[in-house]
Amino acid sequence: MIAAPKFPPFNPPRRILMGPGPSDVYPEVLAAQSKPTVGHLDPLFVGMMDELKALIQYAFQTENEVTVAVSAPGSAGMETCFVNLVEPGDKVVVCRNGVFGERMRQNVERCGGEVVMVDNEWGEPVDLAEVEVALHANPDAKFLAFVHAETSTGALSDAKGLCALARAHNCLTIVDAVTSLGGVELRVDEWGIDAIYSGSQKCLSCVPGLSPVSFSPAAVEKIKARKTPVQSWFLDQTLVMGYWSGDGKRSYHHTAPVNALYALHESLRLLANEGLENAWARHREMHELLKAGLEKLGLEFVVEEASRLPQLNAVYIPNGVDDGAVRKQLLEQYNLEIGAGLGALAGKAWRIGLMGFGARRENIALCLRALEDVLN
Ligand SMILES: *Cc1c(COP(=O)(O)O)cnc(C)c1O
Repeated sequence: MIAAPKFPPFNPPRRILMGPGPSDVYPEVLAAQSKPTVGHLDPLFVGMMDELKALIQYAFQTENEVTVAVSAPGSAGMETCFVNLVEPGDKVVVCRNGVFGERMRQNVERCGGEVVMVDNEWGEPVDLAEVEVALHANPDAKFLAFVHAETSTGALSDAKGLCALARAHNCLTIVDAVTSLGGVELRVDEWGIDAIYSGSQKCLSCVPGLSPVSFSPAAVEKIKARKTPVQSWFLDQTLVMGYWSGDGKRSYHHTAPVNALYALHESLRLLANEGLENAWARHREMHELLKAGLEKLGLEFVVEEASRLPQLNAVYIPNGVDDGAVRKQLLEQYNLEIGAGLGALAGKAWRIGLMGFGARRENIALCLRALEDVLN
């Protein structure tokens, strides 16, 4: 026998989460998650799932029938889009201006797709002119894949313009909206996005572990016309679609994460009550406040003003300042988490998130005061 380990219950402190996600979770969302678990085929739960679908459609601004929450984090939403759409031999133009564009490339390769890269510097948005050149040079490309809000740098790319370019070259679009959803303008139908995925724990301020995704009718057609079955059984949308809609609706596919879905329902309900445009404006307004304070402290932004994400503020660490020591002190003395630099910006920048419930005055005041204390 292995001896039974005996531990006290885990009691996390109440941190203020101002990193790249998870963000501060709405208290209402935590309360929703602790409601009684019902069966995932219970008629009451099925009714809640119908509301949840309508709420995700609102957040994405889409009428796409295939709009669901994948029962796994944003990375699984990413993989859902690629494994369903990209068949061996399909050519995909992938834009890379940070960590997540590189992950898109890896996904395409694992699907057996042929990758054409469009690279931009870290901290810059995707360059439309370079994408146009790549699409022109590759008339057989089937997809354009890009990250709307690059969380590794804080750069926002022109999703509307990129989708228009893709359409002009007969490409479907695969868009990473993990950090953009709920924080900046995003209009799936109007912009003509074909496949999109997000995450629960960034500007939706829900608990981590769920990924809203949506597929346009053209994307669904491409999936239905596949010559080979989707390699992943769990992420195969042709199977999941049956669970969320259609004949035999809610037939068993996998056990839905019941309580996590209560949480997502509540966070999207709060977003709908606030109104998307109000939420976008609040993120912008809070960003301006934080920016003014950070500049007063002498901190410089990684990204040019025009393409700066309000919800992810990457600033250079001043010379001679110990990155790890500062973040440790913020965490231990102020219960405040800010993000470290990722990839090319590791050790060089901090990433300060203003996401969802976290994008509010108290958080900004605390963050600025704490940073000032610690830097002095
Ligand atoms: C966080 C993030 C992901 C991955 O989401 P997880 O929930 O961590 O799997 C993907 N893309 C972007 C842009 C992100 O910010």
